[in-house]
Amino acid sequence: MPDSASKTQTDPTTFDAIVVGSGIAGGWAAKELCEKGLKTLVLERGRNVEHIKDYPTANLAPWQLPHRGRLTRKVVEHNPVMSVIAAEDVQHFFVKDAEHPYVQEKPFDWIRGYQVGGKSIMWGRACQRWSHYEFTAPERHGYGIGWPIGYEDIAPWYSHVERFIGVCGTRDGIESMPDGEYLPPFDFNCVEQHMSDKVRAHYGNRYVVHGRWAHLTRPEPIHLQQGRSACRSRNLCWRGCPFGAYFSSNSSTLPWAEKTGNMTLRPDAVVHSIIYDEHKNRATGVRVIDAKTHAVSEYRARIIFVTASALNTVLILFNSTSTRFPHGLGNDNGLLGKYVAFQNYRSGGGGAIDGFEDKYYFGRRPSECILANFRNLGKKEMDFVGGYTTFTGAYRDRGEVTSDRVGGAYKDAQARPGQWHIYMYMQGETVPKESNHVRLHETLKDEWGVPQLVTSVAYDDNDERMIRDFRTQAEEMLEVAGCRDVKTDKNNWNPGRDIHEMGGCRMGRDAKTSLLNSWNQLHACPNVFVTDGACMTSTGNQSPSLLYMALTARAVNHAVEELNRQNL
Ligand SMILES: Cc1cc2nc3c(=O)[nH]c(=O)nc-3n(C[C@H](O)[C@H](O)[C@H](O)COP(=O)(O)OP(=O)(O)OC[C@H]3O[C@@H](n4cnc5c(N)ncnc54)[C@H](O)[C@@H]3O)c2cc1C
Repeated sequence: MPDSASKTQTDPTTFDAIVVGSGIAGGWAAKELCEKGLKTLVLERGRNVEHIKDYPTANLAPWQLPHRGRLTRKVVEHNPVMSVIAAEDVQHFFVKDAEHPYVQEKPFDWIRGYQVGGKSIMWGRACQRWSHYEFTAPERHGYGIGWPIGYEDIAPWYSHVERFIGVCGTRDGIESMPDGEYLPPFDFNCVEQHMSDKVRAHYGNRYVVHGRWAHLTRPEPIHLQQGRSACRSRNLCWRGCPFGAYFSSNSSTLPWAEKTGNMTLRPDAVVHSIIYDEHKNRATGVRVIDAKTHAVSEYRARIIFVTASALNTVLILFNSTSTRFPHGLGNDNGLLGKYVAFQNYRSGGGGAIDGFEDKYYFGRRPSECILANFRNLGKKEMDFVGGYTTFTGAYRDRGEVTSDRVGGAYKDAQARPGQWHIYMYMQGETVPKESNHVRLHETLKDEWGVPQLVTSVAYDDNDERMIRDFRTQAEEMLEVAGCRDVKTDKNNWNPGRDIHEMGGCRMGRDAKTSLLNSWNQLHACPNVFVTDGACMTSTGNQSPSLLYMALTARAVNHAVEELNRQNL
């Protein structure tokens, strides 16, 4: 039943709502707005990617890839940023460096996916909830401003999202990683079960549990209605899943929005800026450049959701200048682009484990185990602030190690299961700082005449201290689990390589220190909503995208209530 906010669309350039970007956050905005009866225009700068039809490598065997899955030297040389993550089977979903340049004042790997579905096609699907600790720690421990919402505000929206996208996992009762609405988990293998038991017995308060992943292990009717089906454990997810077994905008939210008849999706539409009307004191629409023809057009709507991914959202706001907002839309306090943060993945390690030689596992499970954060929960107890999630798992080498790499003996050795190992790696919180910022370059522009983004973001001593603690703890836990040859290392990943960039347009209680209010509306222009990573007040240690989805659904609900009350 459409809400009273909906209008009957007569003018093809005028809509009830505009959504900028069709990735994880944009897909959710589109679904919720369309379900509530709003005629919604979704503007996406990249090409269309239709579920199943446009996954060209989804069913290829390794020998069908010309370079066996590797990028060629030429591709790597031309794409130093893209090649830190992309492989041959998925390179068509990642932005090529030369096509979308930006300026790294400090090294920053800005990994992007410009297409319908955005990065939801290639994402890793880890979906833990934030706990009340992450929402309160920055203010309690003095390393950030307070969030304007708490866990209790977002919990129902987490449930709303989890039920629709399908998240597998177990309800473990861990305070620092709250339980959600879960489908059955993927099974532990025997070594993971052993590690979980050993770690719990040794520490009492550290839990290696099933990770929470946006995968359909046993689909519910709502997932079947989306045309999705159960995971086959192929672990080829990021090529696009023909079964729709993991959540992406392409398999789930966008087709759902399409079915309402209320969505107009326009690919190849680069949003240049948001139009602000000085007389009406509100945003009235967006200016768009056709990606192929460069023709300029304008679209109008009552409300605008900017969900172009964290740094692109900030870029669009900076580029939206007017007499009222000479430094970017909503940027009265000069904090737009500041307090950019990310997550710290700079250490990992592992060890070999004996005693399970008579056991194996079936299939290629697309999931890992998680050890919930155990640092700085109630009080600050470490020489660093923030916490870290540890991803972990156990696997068996394929084949015995032989000196030959060809021939019958090598083939025979490959057919025998090899050594068991356990690995661990960290996903740490980083501190949002004013100095970690992005801004527009004064002269350099892209092919569409939009100023290039300058990134000036770096690690700090807090990150180094957290890495030190992770290494000590990981080595100890691997030994507790019974591993030998335990090693951890520290990598030199640039910021951004984590692909969890956040901030630049943060939420807060006070318009002097934040850009967005508790409903993700720009304080100074409330009919513009920002619900992607740009809105994040702090980074937490949990994977962030589930929170973007929940914040988006919550903000849409508020927007429609406000429209109905004639407040927007
Ligand atoms: C390999 C990989 C693994 C990951 N693993 C995880 C994980 O396990 N858990 C997790 O929580 N997160 C993970 N992430 C991060 C996750 O993908 C992002 O947090 C998420 O996609 C962000 O959603 P978004 O909608 O803000 O951005 P996106 O999904 O990137 O979508 C933004 C869209 O906006 C479009 N756009 C940009 N600028 C414009 C413009 N000017 N005009 C019109 N359209 C525009 C883009 O083309 C894009 O389609 C991973 C990412 C990658 C690549």
